Amino acid sequence: MATGTTARLTVLSGPSGVGKGTVVAEVRKRHPDVWVSVSVTTRRPRPGEQDGVHYHFVDDADFDRLIEHDGLLEWAEYAGHRYGTPVEPLRRRLATGAPALLEIELQGARQVRERDPEAQLVFLAPPTWAELVSRLAGRGSEPPAVQERRLRLAQAELDASGEFDVVVVNDDVARAADELVGLLTAPSPGLVPGE
Ligand code: 5GP
Repeated sequence: MATGTTARLTVLSGPSGVGKGTVVAEVRKRHPDVWVSVSVTTRRPRPGEQDGVHYHFVDDADFDRLIEHDGLLEWAEYAGHRYGTPVEPLRRRLATGAPALLEIELQGARQVRERDPEAQLVFLAPPTWAELVSRLAGRGSEPPAVQERRLRLAQAELDASGEFDVVVVNDDVARAADELVGLLTAPSPGLVPGE
């Protein structure tokens, strides 16, 4: 989706467990003016999550229809559920000339890159590998084999940082949120004079 305007689409992605959701929640709190896309998902709401605010919660048939009618900019399966970015609200937002933010996992970020090469891809990185390991381990009490598989996956996900335009380190949630908001309105490299 080439936007054809000065408005920029920014995608926040990164390994699971790095805290993307937390950073975006902080962005919403500190900068309520920032427009964040509301994804559709086939997973059930968690306590406190509101339909239309955190996600649009849909069933498999609805999700199939969205794919069939080209209603999604990108979509991916993650942990047994499907997640996707509705294209229409995003298109409308960018058409006004204002920036937009997506928070999605890596497969989706790669699809956005293909469809909109002008999109700015931001990778949220853990301060250290040890920090990510402790966050992933802290999520539950799975058997060691499951934890090991998750760590191998996290290593592969970290290796993807080279595909991104910018790396933001999640050393402090408020700081990372502010840095991200600064990037949303930064001029695209193609518009910087002298480049
Ligand atoms: P959760 O179920 O914890 O809310 O999200 C699981 C994963 O799905 C997170 O990594 C989140 O970034 C990702 N995600 C949320 N919405 C989308 C989306 O629209 N597309 C893709 N590809 N991933 C998404």
